[in-house]
Amino acid sequence: MRLVERGYGSPRVAIVGGIHGDEPAGKEVVERLIHTLEIENEGTVQLLVANERALTIGERYTETDLNRAFPGDPDSDRYEDVLATRVCSILEGADAVLALHTSHSAPPPFAIYSTLTDSVQRTVTGLPVDYVVNSGELRGTTLDSVVPHTVSVELGRQWSEDAIAFGHDASLAFLRAHGLVSDRAPRFTETKVVRGYEEVPKGGGEPTVNYANFEEIPVGSVFASDDVYTHRVEEEGVVPILASERGYEDIFGIYGRLEQTLFPPEEV
Ligand SMILES: [Zn+2]
Repeated sequence: MRLVERGYGSPRVAIVGGIHGDEPAGKEVVERLIHTLEIENEGTVQLLVANERALTIGERYTETDLNRAFPGDPDSDRYEDVLATRVCSILEGADAVLALHTSHSAPPPFAIYSTLTDSVQRTVTGLPVDYVVNSGELRGTTLDSVVPHTVSVELGRQWSEDAIAFGHDASLAFLRAHGLVSDRAPRFTETKVVRGYEEVPKGGGEPTVNYANFEEIPVGSVFASDDVYTHRVEEEGVVPILASERGYEDIFGIYGRLEQTLFPPEEV
């Protein structure tokens, strides 16, 4: 783990990269910020590269998935369980946290939260994304489900330069939204919330995915199939999240529904 702090006092915000070792874009973004970021206003920015061991070997994790291990276990034999505890203690009390991820799924970039707070609303509407996924009903062991005021952002495809460029832009937008950087005015926009409600399981054999992220699947159409499953959608308003043929071992993606629209914070 690598932690660098810039600035002093409050608010305190954090940008976390490298939760997954096979997603080096987040680490690149954080390292670039370590070299270039100047805090003009009162406040502290914590820049954190989480799973350096996994990044070194280029694998998602060494012993267990860090983003399924929160809040961690300091007495565990597994590296990531202990690391999760350390990450949580560093981020405890933060006013806002941004966690950088990439995926095998196609653009556009989007944000993810588990619990909506004023800080989360400020982050989400301040980021250059049109969609945010409410994953509160899904897993309870991710960073955004355990550390309050955390927003995760999917920057784009794993290993891509575009993901690094977007991650840098998104990080600066996050810092402007929370008043840490004022090189230019924050830009808040409305953001559509898609509630993720069901993981779509994968069986085996040749996988096919027919619809892209946030694209409504017409009733009666097949979202995805392989030798075991044919996932036909029987209800209106279903959109895929993290849709991917080969990105994940066990799922084709997640079914979601449009839930609400988030508006910029009042005082802006
Ligand atoms: Zn990730």
